[in-house]
Amino acid sequence: MLPISYHEIYTSAISPHARFPRDRYRLVHEEIQARIKENPDLAIRIQPSNPAARDDLLLVHDESYVDAFLHGRMTDAEIRRIGFRPWTPEFVERTLTITGGSIQAMRTALEESRVAGNLAGGTHHAFADHGEGFCVFNDLAICARIAQREYGIRRIAIIDCDVHQGNGTASIFAGDSTVLTFSIHGARNYPFRKEKSDVDIELPNNTDDDTYIASLKQALPRALYPFEPELIFFQAGCDPLKEDTLGKLDLTRNGLDRRNQLVFQHVAYWNCPVVIFMGGGYADPIQASVACHADVFEEAAALRSTVSGGY
Ligand SMILES: [Zn+2]
Repeated sequence: MLPISYHEIYTSAISPHARFPRDRYRLVHEEIQARIKENPDLAIRIQPSNPAARDDLLLVHDESYVDAFLHGRMTDAEIRRIGFRPWTPEFVERTLTITGGSIQAMRTALEESRVAGNLAGGTHHAFADHGEGFCVFNDLAICARIAQREYGIRRIAIIDCDVHQGNGTASIFAGDSTVLTFSIHGARNYPFRKEKSDVDIELPNNTDDDTYIASLKQALPRALYPFEPELIFFQAGCDPLKEDTLGKLDLTRNGLDRRNQLVFQHVAYWNCPVVIFMGGGYADPIQASVACHADVFEEAAALRSTVSGGY
């Protein structure tokens, strides 16, 4: 079974008046449940997320930033930069629960299932000392530090396929040779001031499936072979989709499937555990994003069943 972390607070703690498509978490969860009902061979198990602890956050983030967020002491400008307003205790609980869901997925992947995911997260715009772009704490970075400290993992590759550059992740791991930061994203999209990842693949607006896949196919092995990952994190954002309102690329649902398969082929080659972080998806109507997010988890479940024999 593929374990996926999920909690209804992912949706419920965001104001219904927010412009952010809060319902996509609930809808992706419903879509996965519907697919399981239709296909009893679809081996997915939903596990409830628990909140991360303050100490988990401190593995990556500055204490002053963590405490300002937890205790509602951020300035208006800091809250605006994150993009979720207003600050509420429920929103703090949501943030901790999403981070905790990612940590739980990482632990489950390492301890038992080899493949696991969180039905949220991939909050790659969070820096050590501030949040931005809908990201408060960097769950990818926190999971990497826990994997290194508690599980003795030496080399972690973060494959970030969200259409927006993983700037926070790049900044946190700058100069750290134990974590490979790989980001394939739109050149002319947020963040407009980009950080330097170990590998940045920048794509022009309106890039199509074939161009995207060709770029990824060329870049991924070049990055992974010299690095020899022991653990892979896949930030599987679905915002490169043509229908996405924040994406600016022209990928189809089939193109995203090909992308996922390509990443999973590399996971199988390295025979290492993989954690899937949901990432962005902002189609309007949201249904196009929901289908693509559910595809990622369905394909991960198939990967889990094909590789589990070897694990
Ligand atoms: Zn994004």
